[in-house]
Amino acid sequence: MKKICKYISVLMIILLVLPTIFLASCKTLSDGGKMSIVCSTFAQYDFTMNILGDASDKFEVSYLLESGTDMHSYSNSISVSDKVRILSCDLFICIGGNSEKWIDELLDDDAAKGVKVIKLIECVGEPVCTSGDAHEDHGHTHAHECDEHIWLSPKRAIMMCDAICDAICELDKENADIYTENYRENYKKELEKLDNDFENTVSSAKLAHIVFADRFPFVYLTNDYNIGYSAAFEGCSTETSATYETVVRLVNDINEKNIKVLMILERGGTDIADTLIKESGRNDITVMKMISMQNVSRNDIDGGMSYISAMYENLEVLGKAMN
Ligand SMILES: [Zn+2]
Repeated sequence: MKKICKYISVLMIILLVLPTIFLASCKTLSDGGKMSIVCSTFAQYDFTMNILGDASDKFEVSYLLESGTDMHSYSNSISVSDKVRILSCDLFICIGGNSEKWIDELLDDDAAKGVKVIKLIECVGEPVCTSGDAHEDHGHTHAHECDEHIWLSPKRAIMMCDAICDAICELDKENADIYTENYRENYKKELEKLDNDFENTVSSAKLAHIVFADRFPFVYLTNDYNIGYSAAFEGCSTETSATYETVVRLVNDINEKNIKVLMILERGGTDIADTLIKESGRNDITVMKMISMQNVSRNDIDGGMSYISAMYENLEVLGKAMN
């Protein structure tokens, strides 16, 4: 019996590993010798395409979450073909935060030896981390955790693009000048304008505080542009219902700071916002959506979704919420 089990497990390993090796070795035949870049989330996919510009057809650039899967649940649904795609690519551009712990395991594999990886969270300066202190007065203890939603601050987006541009230039040294010039003359200027527009909106705003009746992935934005915030949950907590203490805390902030707009995420529900409006006894509060870009699908991209357009929509909401 033991022997049969051993046979079966060896057979299983062969069946699992063989297609990986086969596909990896076929790479240069099937894609016409193009170098391949794999991006884990939408922001760096969009950044990469813009940095490459007209030269993007020299690369096979793919985006792992294109079915619209949320970045926080992707690790439960990663397919064998996605793993092969990563293990056989030339450059893998990931965020490297808590939701991507699966990447370290995958890259431990011997098959990953030729893959160049950049973790953008290591390229954007000091991380913003929450500590237990933030919730001390509510009796909660939260583990010290660094936020991973770095792209939601245009300042960090520029640092992400600088790092991506460097990695692409390293990958294709011959054409490095083309990528560098394209990025500096075009996309980087657009991002710098976006950064300036955020600075101007925030510095001329009447209010200095926003309230999120939802999960809160915008801590890099509030940190980098000096905006105060209150949120139902820190980061992308899996909690979905607010405690009594949270409701009291947010209602106090809404009334004390005369908040007129409650923010939620693009796929968020209005349950908490409705409760807050009711409990605050106010009838002049509206609910508006901010786009976090954590679950952008290929359909959204084909429909014109871009990092810059989404951030300008966010800026418009921010302008309304802070005035
Ligand atoms: Zn998130």
